[in-house]
Amino acid sequence: MAELRRDPITRMWVVTATDHPKGPSDYLSFKPPYQLQEIEGPCPFCPGNEEETPRETFSIKQDGKSWAVRVIPNKYPFFRTEGEYDRRPEGMYDVMEAIGAHEIVIETPEHHQSLAFMESSQIRNILQAYQERLIDLEKDRRFEQFLILKNYPGLFNRHPHSHIMAMPVIPRRIDEEIWGILDYYQRKERCIFCDILREEISVRKRVITETVHFLVFAPFASRYPFETWIVPKAHRPDFHRLREEEIEDLSVAIQSLFLKFHRLLSDPPYSFTLHTSPVQERFHRPEFHWHIETRLRIGLREGFEWGTGFFVNPTPPEDAAAFLREIES
Ligand SMILES: [Zn+2]
Ligand SMILES: [Zn+2]
Ligand SMILES: [Zn+2]
Repeated sequence: MAELRRDPITRMWVVTATDHPKGPSDYLSFKPPYQLQEIEGPCPFCPGNEEETPRETFSIKQDGKSWAVRVIPNKYPFFRTEGEYDRRPEGMYDVMEAIGAHEIVIETPEHHQSLAFMESSQIRNILQAYQERLIDLEKDRRFEQFLILKNYPGLFNRHPHSHIMAMPVIPRRIDEEIWGILDYYQRKERCIFCDILREEISVRKRVITETVHFLVFAPFASRYPFETWIVPKAHRPDFHRLREEEIEDLSVAIQSLFLKFHRLLSDPPYSFTLHTSPVQERFHRPEFHWHIETRLRIGLREGFEWGTGFFVNPTPPEDAAAFLREIES
């Protein structure tokens, strides 16, 4: 028998394999058919090739000269900054210009590097770049929502990088979370994320690591094997308003988690996303509790989800957390 688990925030059902759970070795023997194509020619993200990219919007310099982190507008953006906010009907449908910003954070000058092996001070630089860019982009009143996204390895270039997107609408996944959060608030007058943290800290079955300011755990209704959330212990709606010591602490939590993934599952491909409250006074949600979600791209069957809206997870989060807890980092 499997177990049906409901995510308390989005109310999405997940089929969790509790009787014949799969462990790390099952995923190691099944190598997903992902193939990384190295880009041809010199890498535009490597030092020395800066003129190949659009002009940077932000950078952190090291030893006063060369850069440690560099942020540039994406050459092939989903969203563009030019244009008007014009939501309009097209017959019965809604359309609007895809205005927004889409920037690339080049996370390190080193072409072959990963979060698992970076110094935590370098991860702190990356987080600082996210923060500074969001603070700047927030001034553009057309943008309602930010999203930070990373694929490892990158789909077009393996040089470590992540995406910052500023959007004129709230994407569905965040909208679902907002509805879940508000509904819970109305019933209990408490934040559901704060309650989840209390529960996970007291039960401890799904906790992977805990730092001063963050809890790293496998969520109860994990949709993917080894799905992991990093959540600030204090209630904070906005990632970009984190204090310096929290950023410092977060970089340690991230470094340790990705090193665990690397050691347990032999350098698995992964994605992570950062969810934070919508911005601008009229959309901002003080009830929101920002967080990072990570998933490893090692799934075995994803077609079922497409058909039913259910996810099927062959590795219960309690098992995933135990494996990750025990591996050193
Ligand atoms: Zn490179
Ligand atoms: Zn909270
Ligand atoms: Zn989320």
